[in-house]
Amino acid sequence: MADANTAGANIPQGTGYFASDSTLPFHAPDFSKISEDDYIPAFEQGMAIHKAEIDAIINNPEAPTFSNTIVALEKSGRMLGRVATVFFALTGSNTTDRLDEINTEISPKLTAHSDSITLNPELFARVKAVYDNRAAMAMTREDAKLLEDTYEGMVHAGALLTDAQRARVKEINSELSEITTEFGQEARAAMADQPVIFDTREELAGLSESDIKSAADFAAEKGHPGKYAIALQNTTQQPLLPNMTNRAAREKLFMASYHRADGTTDIDTRPLVAKIAALRAEKASLFGEPDWATYAMWDRMAEKPATALGFMERMVPALAATQRREAAMLDEAIKADGGNFEVKPWDWYRYANKVKAARYDLDEDAMTEYFQLDKVLEDGVFYAANKLYGLRFERRTDLPVYHPDVWTYTVFDRDGSELGIFYFDPFQRPSKRGGAWMSNFVDQSKLWNTKPVIYNVLNIPKAPAGEVQLVSFDNVNTMFHEFGHALHGFFANQTYPSLSGTAVARDFVEYPSQVNEVWATYPEVLSNYAKHYRTGEPIPSEMITKIEAAAKFNQGYDFGETVEAALLDMKWAALSKEQAEAINTPAKVTEFERKSLEELGLEIDLVPPRYRSTYFNHIFSGPAGYSAGYYSYLWTEMLDRDSRKWFMENGGLTRANGDHYRETVLSTGGTMDYFEMFRNFAGRDPDVTPMLEARGLVPGDEAADSEVSDGALPADTAG
Ligand SMILES: [Zn+2]
Repeated sequence: MADANTAGANIPQGTGYFASDSTLPFHAPDFSKISEDDYIPAFEQGMAIHKAEIDAIINNPEAPTFSNTIVALEKSGRMLGRVATVFFALTGSNTTDRLDEINTEISPKLTAHSDSITLNPELFARVKAVYDNRAAMAMTREDAKLLEDTYEGMVHAGALLTDAQRARVKEINSELSEITTEFGQEARAAMADQPVIFDTREELAGLSESDIKSAADFAAEKGHPGKYAIALQNTTQQPLLPNMTNRAAREKLFMASYHRADGTTDIDTRPLVAKIAALRAEKASLFGEPDWATYAMWDRMAEKPATALGFMERMVPALAATQRREAAMLDEAIKADGGNFEVKPWDWYRYANKVKAARYDLDEDAMTEYFQLDKVLEDGVFYAANKLYGLRFERRTDLPVYHPDVWTYTVFDRDGSELGIFYFDPFQRPSKRGGAWMSNFVDQSKLWNTKPVIYNVLNIPKAPAGEVQLVSFDNVNTMFHEFGHALHGFFANQTYPSLSGTAVARDFVEYPSQVNEVWATYPEVLSNYAKHYRTGEPIPSEMITKIEAAAKFNQGYDFGETVEAALLDMKWAALSKEQAEAINTPAKVTEFERKSLEELGLEIDLVPPRYRSTYFNHIFSGPAGYSAGYYSYLWTEMLDRDSRKWFMENGGLTRANGDHYRETVLSTGGTMDYFEMFRNFAGRDPDVTPMLEARGLVPGDEAADSEVSDGALPADTAG
């Protein structure tokens, strides 16, 4: 069809490896044939071909149709897609200096290339002609969604604005790009360049010898020989606080973090915060939207700021009560420890950790001995996928990989047919960035007749040669999590790649992955994979019970600081242009933040937000970041916990449940309304209660109150 659409048009031919599909099974990338010198020419050719394809669409003498415009656009840029997919996979998981250089060179060009398409008025005229005629067209649901997404994406970028408005949007975009970059640099400087200086070693009592030595070295390096310096870390809470026994020193470190970049020192990001909020609100107003949040949330599941706000506000009463209850419990622990003061944020984790250790007696190292990497993957993650979805996995050794530590598997579907290829890249190495992620080398698509080729990347510390490779319980969960994303990709059943699999909203994409974590501790799965690496004994169930009980501990703080940050994000994003412009001095920024937090009804002086505005990088650093989107973490957790409840109420790990979830959620990609998708699965709207229960925050549950408040420190750990 693409050939018909572009017949007679002058599309250049690419050369080299990326000019055509890989000839390996499933078009898996042939790493044995790719060299670093291929990338720049392939990017350049890929962009030139893409541009020629777009021109051919625009210059098509036939009237615009769904096929010759929307589908042709979806099909364009194939070579560029091929090179970008492999290139950005490698810069993440196995980069080199050369790849980093290429990245710096090519990224601005890719942005400009993409803008030249999204903001092309002639292309938009054709897209709009098709869109305006949509009522008269017979389309599948997926066709309709592709048309809507294509049109709305261009509108969102500014296609419907007047020339003057569009010019102002471009100015705002470039100003925002500069100011948010500056914010990121200033916030980083306030951490890295302004360590907290302590005059005496006594102030650091409780820290390890190596922490104290690093503090002494760091002070010398910063021009304070003979003193001690501690660099601030990202969040409001600071990781060294729990070990510090000197309360005044704790307060000093905490307050330096809390007042970071707020003008207490010579770094003050408040003018930048005010500017960013005003520019975003102005941009939203150019699009006729009341505020930035409404503009930014156009393609989200929650869709409207009020939905996200209302969802979080429902947690506030139970959360506030938990914060007060935990504070009272910690006050008791302080008294039992011989202290004569009430808990403050700088004391919180010191005493919470003591209570937790006394109460739950967790031994993480002993647990790890039950988690052997290959068993967790094949007898745990794959086993659960077999029971739920009927999948089968066969290790293969014939495919070239980008690093010898990458494992590959063929995935077979429930009917025995080949479903796709799975790459598993488990180990930490210097060439890999931190964290864990999933993506595709090849997207499932009926348009191209392609099946998914998917990778999971993790950062598990590699065991020394000859030793059994064990993994922590955290990494076990991460393996199930990332494979949840992989299932979302494998079960994709779409025509168009841009709607396929995990191509879904930011506040939806973490949902299937979180749900898959439930099987890590499901008894039938656990007993199949968690066996002691020497004795083969199954893991004692108390170990899991303890972990699960401990997970409900300290939620007033752990969860509270996140909810506060998410609400603060939304308050900034919900300002109208006039309101934002009125916050025009540093003092007014502080005042607005204080007022916004006070309105929430949470104990913000005991539990300050995870980030204050002046160092909230997620929302003020980078072009848009997680602005009006920090709530997504909580939102998908709601969907996840509610879905786990559905599974458990319906018999747990069964093929019927798996097939139903696959049918309603995992195979649907981005082709329909997310609420409708959830209702198809659960038979009702999502409910926040299971999430609150999981976090030990059941509203009005007096039993829970008394249970948690009997947490005085046992005498044997006092002192
Ligand atoms: Zn994830």
